[in-house]
Amino acid sequence: MTMGKKNILVESSRSALLLTDLQPDFMPGGALPVLEGDCIVKPAAALVRSGHFPLVIATQDWHPPGHVSFASNHPGKKPFDVVALYGHPQVLWPDHCVEGSRRAQIHRGVPLSRASAIVRKGTDPEVDSYSAFHNNWNAAGERPATGLAGYLRERGVRDLYICGLARDFCVKWSAEDAADMGFRVWVLWDLTRPVHPSSDRQVRRDLSELGIHVVDSTQLKS
Ligand SMILES: [Zn+2]
Repeated sequence: MTMGKKNILVESSRSALLLTDLQPDFMPGGALPVLEGDCIVKPAAALVRSGHFPLVIATQDWHPPGHVSFASNHPGKKPFDVVALYGHPQVLWPDHCVEGSRRAQIHRGVPLSRASAIVRKGTDPEVDSYSAFHNNWNAAGERPATGLAGYLRERGVRDLYICGLARDFCVKWSAEDAADMGFRVWVLWDLTRPVHPSSDRQVRRDLSELGIHVVDSTQLKS
């Protein structure tokens, strides 16, 4: 499926690896399981240890109980219903990644000791956050920044490599925001898994149209 199998030279001093939401709630047995979501932990951990990326950042979905994205907070609605929230479509999810809960912890197979920063998102009870860079829209029609772009820029990062969960939501939104803010972006397709596998073709097209490289982690060299 992945286009092109040529080697990709990672310029380590200008690059960072973003591990997106590798949390048990997004894996089989979790509240919002992504098919095979657990299968990418080991190869992602190997990539962290590979030495390609001196700078590794993890994101962690981290919601207060009663979060606006939880279907349980919307009477008469059920998970995966879509409602209008502040003028934008909002998917309603099962309660997931509740702050402090066991399944909201980053998977123990992820070598977090190598991570320079962990960005928690979705912490505002009234606003969801798929992207590592900006929350979804709030009541004021804004998408407040998480501060990650500034952090990466101050660390001299130009190239961002993204893996994790889920391909069609948090990975996609993070990649699109990163590209929008001027980073060069690679999505490591084999180290992502989707909520909706039927969306794969569209996701790949959307990313490519923004100049985001869709590649396999096995292509990376440094
Ligand atoms: Zn969430």
